[in-house]
Amino acid sequence: MGSGNCRKHAQRPKLVTLENTDLPSLAQYIKSNKCKNIVLMPIQRHIISGVSTSAGIPDFRSPETGLYSNLARLKLPYPEAVFEIGYFRRNPVPFYTLAQELYPGKFRPTIAHSFIRLLHDKGLLLKCFTQNIDTLERRAGVPDEKIIEAHGSFAAQRCIDCQAPYDDFLIKVHIKEKTIPRCDGCRGLVKPDIVFFGESLPEDFIESIPLLQQADLLIVMGTSLTVHPFAMLAGLVETKCPRVLINLEEVGDFSHRTDDVLLLGRCDEMVRELCQELGWEEDLDELWKDTENSIEKDEDDEDDEDRAELANEIASLTSAIEQSLSIAKTPPPSSTKTTIDSPKSENDVKETPEPKSSSNKTDTSQEK
Ligand SMILES: [Zn+2]
Repeated sequence: MGSGNCRKHAQRPKLVTLENTDLPSLAQYIKSNKCKNIVLMPIQRHIISGVSTSAGIPDFRSPETGLYSNLARLKLPYPEAVFEIGYFRRNPVPFYTLAQELYPGKFRPTIAHSFIRLLHDKGLLLKCFTQNIDTLERRAGVPDEKIIEAHGSFAAQRCIDCQAPYDDFLIKVHIKEKTIPRCDGCRGLVKPDIVFFGESLPEDFIESIPLLQQADLLIVMGTSLTVHPFAMLAGLVETKCPRVLINLEEVGDFSHRTDDVLLLGRCDEMVRELCQELGWEEDLDELWKDTENSIEKDEDDEDDEDRAELANEIASLTSAIEQSLSIAKTPPPSSTKTTIDSPKSENDVKETPEPKSSSNKTDTSQEK
């Protein structure tokens, strides 16, 4: 209202799609008939509310973190080995030890997750690209077909040799008991469909990338955007597609485009403000209330604080996968051979493993 942005301002280039880059203009656009396809990229590392992403990618190698010592106890040659397919083949115990803590059902989706569901309910959600493996989007009620899990997830599991699917209930039992599930057919190891270092990215992820061209709005939530392929994805929407960054701080090339909107603050709070502006706050609260019972309680669970701490440490570790996603700059939809390499060190960390085959290095950890 009265922003006068139709005039040519000397210091600001004219917006392409939005009236202005503020909250009311964004809300107005979302409610207009021009905005029909919204693409979401929730990249929250804070699976527990209260944990910020402001520090960027946490240093899981720090000896101060409990995770480091936990992993040391598991006698891993280096922390990332827990997510390496080659190492997993030789020794799946560390992964299944961590999986017990990581397994979905322990955490409640956040308000930001319910916001994605709300966009779906409003008929506006085109796709949700996520790099979280915690399945919280699903658990907030976003339908499977709307979710593209770039790193796979715990939603399914299969034999790493013959690829036969493995039973959902049985794997839960194994994970809970910290025992190793094996394929009924070939006795191969069973692994959740999480993308490990040295594995291909999921086909549906690669195939869905062109969908970004259809987006009328891109919303990126909670990220350092230093992480590939997501940093690259945000640049693939058309220039007329406004991009919204909901994050603690400005990252990536956000604000480089005229129609970029920065909502800086905690995701849950910013999402709530946006919903207030849209008149959707009640809907949001209702959806979030529905997630109340999504936590599967175990009698023998550790107390919440312990779990929260450990889960955060694991989140830090999994971010190593994000750091190292090496996807071709513009992958053709047919290419399914893109793989995740093991982390490349930027800080001369000696124990950085080699991509894929790491037999030489990992052998050093084994008894000779
Ligand atoms: Zn098998």
